[in-house]
Amino acid sequence: MDKLRVGVFKFSSCDGCQAVFLDLPQLWDYLDFRYWLLGRSKRVLEPLDIAFVEGSVSTQEEAEFIREIREKTRVLVTIGACATSGGIQALRNFKNMREFTSLHPEGMFIRVLDKSTPVKEHVKVDYEIYGCPINPQILEGFIKAILYNKKPVIPDYPLCMEY
Ligand code: SF4
Repeated sequence: MDKLRVGVFKFSSCDGCQAVFLDLPQLWDYLDFRYWLLGRSKRVLEPLDIAFVEGSVSTQEEAEFIREIREKTRVLVTIGACATSGGIQALRNFKNMREFTSLHPEGMFIRVLDKSTPVKEHVKVDYEIYGCPINPQILEGFIKAILYNKKPVIPDYPLCMEY
């Protein structure tokens, strides 16, 4: 069986969802991590079978990068509340961003967008896995389904990791 070429991408988030991959060493023999900075990959975007995207889109750089990822990816799946609904970052959508950015005398350090939004508002998303953080068994089931060319079965409600 060929390994799946996967990328794990962090946008505006806490890293908690991508860390769930560390709980699934039994799958690592089947996954070729081409991009995963937490796993010390290079910052080089290559064609992928699956892109796992964590986090919401909050900056201009993120808005551009998610489009690049989409162009190079066969299956794009968002993982966790930040990526699927905006997460805690989206709370700022109720305020005017300029109120925050004007607080610093030298203005902005990053080109932040007016709203922090879920990935699906920027590119086509093939699957969404809900949770905060996501549940390892759901992620494992999803990866196995793709490996065996089956249709993934994902709960349409959040099922979080249990500690
Ligand atoms: Fe972290 Fe929760 Fe966002 Fe996942 S959904 S990145 S655990 S805040």
